[in-house]
Amino acid sequence: MFKGVFITQKDKKSVASVVELNDDQLPEGDVLVEVHYSTLNYKDGLAITGKSPVVRSFPMVPGIDLVGKVLQSDSERFSEGDFVILNGFGVGEMHWGGLAEKARLKSDWLIPLPKGIDAKQSMAIGTAGYTAMLSVLALEKQGVTPGSGEILVTGANGGVGSFAIRLLNRLGYQVVASTGRMAESDYLKNLGASDIIDRNTLSEPGKPLQKERWAGVIDCVGSHTLANACASTKYGGVVTACGLAQGMDFPASVAPFILRGVKLIGIDSVMRPLTDRIEAWQRLSELLQAEDVDSMSDEIGLEDVVDTAYKLLDGKIRGRVVVKVK
Ligand code: NDP
Repeated sequence: MFKGVFITQKDKKSVASVVELNDDQLPEGDVLVEVHYSTLNYKDGLAITGKSPVVRSFPMVPGIDLVGKVLQSDSERFSEGDFVILNGFGVGEMHWGGLAEKARLKSDWLIPLPKGIDAKQSMAIGTAGYTAMLSVLALEKQGVTPGSGEILVTGANGGVGSFAIRLLNRLGYQVVASTGRMAESDYLKNLGASDIIDRNTLSEPGKPLQKERWAGVIDCVGSHTLANACASTKYGGVVTACGLAQGMDFPASVAPFILRGVKLIGIDSVMRPLTDRIEAWQRLSELLQAEDVDSMSDEIGLEDVVDTAYKLLDGKIRGRVVVKVK
């Protein structure tokens, strides 16, 4: 028997609690993992509280991120005792996830824990840090360099935004952070932002072409913010879009794309091929230092997960939440 967060449905409402499970209940897969740490992302909060239809089949063990030790493997890629990470691939939505002491998974979804990052740190980074790294890599691959000019990061106090600022700063970029929490300016400056702007300056409908300012943008919020960011990106600049914290809509014109050659790059972390994941985690291990990760995260236990999920959705949590599972 082992413990896990378990979501069932009662009268079409999700109910989550910590229960005892056994190995026979685990879904199919070729690798059995003893989960050491998981984390709470916004998506996990939605799954646990049932506030959005993230979970596609019930019952479900949530947890889109996990790190742990291989207990049993039918895959040539992994052996007993190896440490592995999983981010996304529908785990915690369609396949039982990381918020339980054991997980049975497909080896195609797993990558080895990179050298230089320990198990707990990998979950402090989690999908948020990995998505930030994918966004930074997209800027680099499109030719944006530290000499190109200022990079705007929106949703700056969030998990993706905070990691994006830190990573860009480590690479020598000049970062401007957009936030609704100006009171957190010192935190953002400590991460490496050289200028902070109020998100209200970007969140309302704006002109299709605005004064050129950004060499690159990492946008976590979508909607008018993304449209205004594109409209104020310099000729040939690059905008990455990973999030929808302001909204799923994109009320923009084609003007920045056809008149300034601005490039808009979509960032998906969930179904990303393994080679991109390995590259992103390798770069994370090179760029981040232990204090970066430790200062951005708090640790909780499995028993605290359900309460914390509600606080997360109420915007009462700053930084990342690491869940010590085993
Ligand atoms: P968080 O909840 O940690 O942060 C989101 C941030 O967005 C908040 O901290 C806030 O920043 C800002 N924000 C919140 N509400 C609004 C609003 N109404 N208008 C403008 N800004 C707002 O989320 P994450 O950082 O983990 O994720 C960011 C986004 O990226 C989310 O939408 C998430 O779903 C998405 N995501 C997508 C992935 C992908 O694969 N494409 C992977 C991971 C996340 P501040 O207080 O500084 O204003």
